[in-house]
Amino acid sequence: MDEELDFLTILDAAVFAAEKHQGQVRKNKHHSPYITHPLLVARAIYEIGDIDDTCILSAAILHDTLEDTRTTEQEIADRFGEKVLSIVLEVTDDKSEDKMTRKRNQIIHAPYLSYKAKIVKLADKLINCRDILKDPPEDWSLERRRDYIQWGADVVENIRGTNSPLESAFDQVLSEAQGRLNFKILPYESVNERPWGPNFRKIS
Ligand code: ZN
Repeated sequence: MDEELDFLTILDAAVFAAEKHQGQVRKNKHHSPYITHPLLVARAIYEIGDIDDTCILSAAILHDTLEDTRTTEQEIADRFGEKVLSIVLEVTDDKSEDKMTRKRNQIIHAPYLSYKAKIVKLADKLINCRDILKDPPEDWSLERRRDYIQWGADVVENIRGTNSPLESAFDQVLSEAQGRLNFKILPYESVNERPWGPNFRKIS
């Protein structure tokens, strides 16, 4: 831990993100408020990952604000500092790219993320895949849910060696998903046979 847990900053991040995500809901059956998602990511980092770094936890709470709200980089820098901003930027997709390119880029960039960004990314994939397994968007087919979890597994494969409790929790979701959604997670070696594989176009 490189700094003490600053509870007030964490709460500030929660208030800031709640305001920014106001009106947004998850696509699950009960349309949970969107803020539930980043809060669950931060909670997993603290509870499962056993990490009490204020920067990481704040960045986790803010991780979707640049991508999904009108929040500016300047606002985050002013209120939470450059260190938090840089983590959020690392886990923010380039929205000018199409969906599949963004999926591919996450796989390509994952190994080069900073340690702190890897933690946020890992917990984000854990929470998202767990949601897709247990509380999925109503209109998602079985195939789409399997694909999402396979893609999550491919991203996480490129982050392994970062935090073993979070990785074990993710593996637990994978094994449960394979049983409940009745499919087999394919090994990373075959990633280029999938549409989000870094070299998919070249071999197809
Ligand atoms: Zn997220």
